[in-house]
Amino acid sequence: MTVRTRADLASLPSYVPGRTIPGAIKLASNEVSAGPLPSVVQAIADAATAINRYPDSGSTELTARLADKLGVPADHLALGCGSVTLCQQLVQATCTENDEVLFAWRSFEAYPIVTHVAGAKQIRVPLTDGHVHDLDAMAAAITPNTRMVFVCNPNNPTGTALRTEEIEAFIAKVPDDVLVVLDEAYKEFVDDAHVPDGVELAKQLWAAGRDNVAVLRTFSKAYGLAGLRIGYAVAPPAVADVLRKVYVPFSVNALAQVAAMASLDAEDELMVRCRAIVAERIRVRGELLALGYEVPETQANFVWLPLGERTAEFNEHCLEHKVVVRAFVGEGARVTIGEPEENDAFLAAARAFSV
Ligand code: PMP
Repeated sequence: MTVRTRADLASLPSYVPGRTIPGAIKLASNEVSAGPLPSVVQAIADAATAINRYPDSGSTELTARLADKLGVPADHLALGCGSVTLCQQLVQATCTENDEVLFAWRSFEAYPIVTHVAGAKQIRVPLTDGHVHDLDAMAAAITPNTRMVFVCNPNNPTGTALRTEEIEAFIAKVPDDVLVVLDEAYKEFVDDAHVPDGVELAKQLWAAGRDNVAVLRTFSKAYGLAGLRIGYAVAPPAVADVLRKVYVPFSVNALAQVAAMASLDAEDELMVRCRAIVAERIRVRGELLALGYEVPETQANFVWLPLGERTAEFNEHCLEHKVVVRAFVGEGARVTIGEPEENDAFLAAARAFSV
């Protein structure tokens, strides 16, 4: 006899992480290439002496720090083991079988997975030809079964970002019992003043009585803690409360909490790094455009090359040049902005590929 597992999981593809290849430059997972700050490493080392104890399951101190930084009461926050886990918690907290979760496609690959696992139904709305969320089509796709909408801003993998008035107009069309989640994993790399700070926007909407907007943030990207797994949701208290209910106890570990607080202490230094990455993003995109590549305007720490059928060939070509990019076969390649010399290696590969 074999164990009976859920039959519907047979068709579920596993999440495919960016590859690490020894000796190659990894520009495949939107990580920050620079290593952790010494102050953060020291805080982790100091906290390591107490890992025989369970972590603070409520992340109390970190929650208070974030509440202070963001200007929201602590009951508006929920910590998670990476924001991807919060995506899962949000679907679990809003959906039962056959409820619908709406998102643009292509967008973050975890959205379909967490939706399927929760037994909910995914509704994918294609991006526009300009690789941007088609908010009109998304609004039109809402049904009485829609419980949640993910809006990834800037969007992974295209880097494109929505403006404040576009998001406001969209939210105005969403019934107020449907949760809109602004996933801001790449927020710190935004330099266009027309792109909102989702938390500030959410605060205004809450004040106006719209209690159906939540924001996801992560310490994995700009704060350089991808390996420690920590992110957070800023949400109306009723939503934050159910997020805490579906939280797997102790899943935000002690070292992650300490590292997040040390990173908040070093925020100025980390934001200087982000500005340098943005400058590199502008340089890389400019060079790619000059080489004849199509590269949508990006507000994240990566560029998107919609190479269509040539994506697999481009991926192989980059691997030959010892650069690992993220290929979505048949669609395009996403390339993380790394340190200047890593970007130079990628640009050399891009130059040697005839577009
Ligand atoms: N949202 C988006 C849009 C992402 O691209 C990612 C990471 N690839 C995440 C959420 C999850 O990040 P983490 O779980 O590391 O916080």
